[in-house]
Amino acid sequence: MQRIDLHTHSAVSDGTDTPRALMEAAAAAGLDAIALTDHDTVAGWAEAESASAEYGVALIPGIEVSTRHEGRSVHVLALLVDPAPSTRLAQTLESMRTSRLERAQAMVAAIGADHPLSWDDVDAVARDRGAAPYSVGRPHIADALIRRGVVRDRTEAFAGILAPRSPYYVPYRTFSTADAIQQIHEAGGVAIAAHALSASRRRDAVPDAFLESLIESGIDGFEVHHREHSERDESRLADIVTAHGLIATGGSDYHGTGKPNRLGENLTAPESLDAIIHRATGPTGVRHP
Ligand code: AMP
Ligand code: ZN
Ligand code: FE
Ligand code: FE
Repeated sequence: MQRIDLHTHSAVSDGTDTPRALMEAAAAAGLDAIALTDHDTVAGWAEAESASAEYGVALIPGIEVSTRHEGRSVHVLALLVDPAPSTRLAQTLESMRTSRLERAQAMVAAIGADHPLSWDDVDAVARDRGAAPYSVGRPHIADALIRRGVVRDRTEAFAGILAPRSPYYVPYRTFSTADAIQQIHEAGGVAIAAHALSASRRRDAVPDAFLESLIESGIDGFEVHHREHSERDESRLADIVTAHGLIATGGSDYHGTGKPNRLGENLTAPESLDAIIHRATGPTGVRHP
């Protein structure tokens, strides 16, 4: 039985392992294939591809795209998309990264008025992990605050200074989920709704109508198996996937030392990966070791 983990992050976004170290860790975790799905960037693909052969782990190139649908945040896993800079998706992602940078700088300027924190502290976090360029997020600010001794860990930072209700919080550019799905399809990729029922990001219950609206927008599948889903969440999503003939996936959402998630703690069935490969229409395929 193949062990496949379709949701991981590297230091190119808010994980802590270089793409190469991630592939090495995947081999050590006994995985046969992983998807690298950094937030809003493909910057880690090339390094992960070359390490794929070195460590004997297949790579499914991907991106975790931050979107909004009917007032809720939706993370969409874009798998096997064409990374060409000319696609609408690539252009959207570039403007999202710019917006992430402006937002992070604005938050750091505000925090810096009250705490010992500068932009260089945040940039140093990514630099020290060998990540350049990188897609900046609140976890980078959290890690800089830890280094400065302002907070103990990411959890404390996210519960206080970086929380959405904090006076320092600044949002970044929102991108509609329906547009994202369309652009992922245009780029030949497959769109999977990540941790759609994750309790930590939902203050209120997600109605069936919301999930059905994602299906009407063209979503190809749901990440059923995820650490932030209860057993009930998983069976609810599995039922929807079956009823609509969609694809079910599972992933660890590994972030290196940034989160407790362990590589391979949630897996995707080989038949689901086959379905993803069949659905993809672009030039990007699985990189076999
Ligand atoms: P951002 O997209 O910059 O607003 O940051 C959100 C990201 O931070 C998410 O995608 C998670 O990877 C991470 N995150 C959210 N909450 C936490 C938390 N409590 N502890 C650690 N990381 C978190
Ligand atoms: Zn993340
Ligand atoms: Fe996510
Ligand atoms: Fe993620």
